[in-house]
Amino acid sequence: MKKFLVLIALAILVTSNITEAKVISNEKIDKAKVETASKIIAGLQKEMKSFTENGSGPFVAAVYDDKGNLVVKVANSVVNEKCSNNHAEMNAIKAAEEKLNTYDLAPYNLKLYVTAEPCIMCVGGIMWSGIKEVYYGVPSKTVEEITGFDEGFKPHWFKEFKKRGITVYGNIEPELGEQELRNYVDNGNEVYKPSR
Ligand SMILES: [Zn+2]
Repeated sequence: MKKFLVLIALAILVTSNITEAKVISNEKIDKAKVETASKIIAGLQKEMKSFTENGSGPFVAAVYDDKGNLVVKVANSVVNEKCSNNHAEMNAIKAAEEKLNTYDLAPYNLKLYVTAEPCIMCVGGIMWSGIKEVYYGVPSKTVEEITGFDEGFKPHWFKEFKKRGITVYGNIEPELGEQELRNYVDNGNEVYKPSR
């Protein structure tokens, strides 16, 4: 009986390790930041469906100020606006800069929340924008597995961002995002990429 209980305990431990996504960061993990990001990203993931129904998506990004106020919230619009640069992060940065009438977001201490890890272009775009903190849901590896999108090469980007004073947190509430990406593909939506 004792052996049996030990086995059950081990099974629970192993299963929870598999299902529990591990948050990663380029600073010492701040639980309060993870809690806020979890709420925001889970909300964005739930909204993903309404964006994809209108021809956008399957990624959603939001910019918040340091008081927790929403500045902008947008999805990617590569297909419906016929522009390969229109990823959610790029659209969010553009919308925030237009709203604040500036090309430099640094003085505003803004945080970018996005349903999936930024690709090579968006990592560059974030670096140029002056965004101070980045929080993402589904990691690139999973995005590539599910959708076939090419996320590009981003060597040591957590470290490079840290050098530039940009905080990154990843793998935040990725489960819902994964499901929405699977739905996007399963429903026959366009997986956009250059033909090679
Ligand atoms: Zn991107």
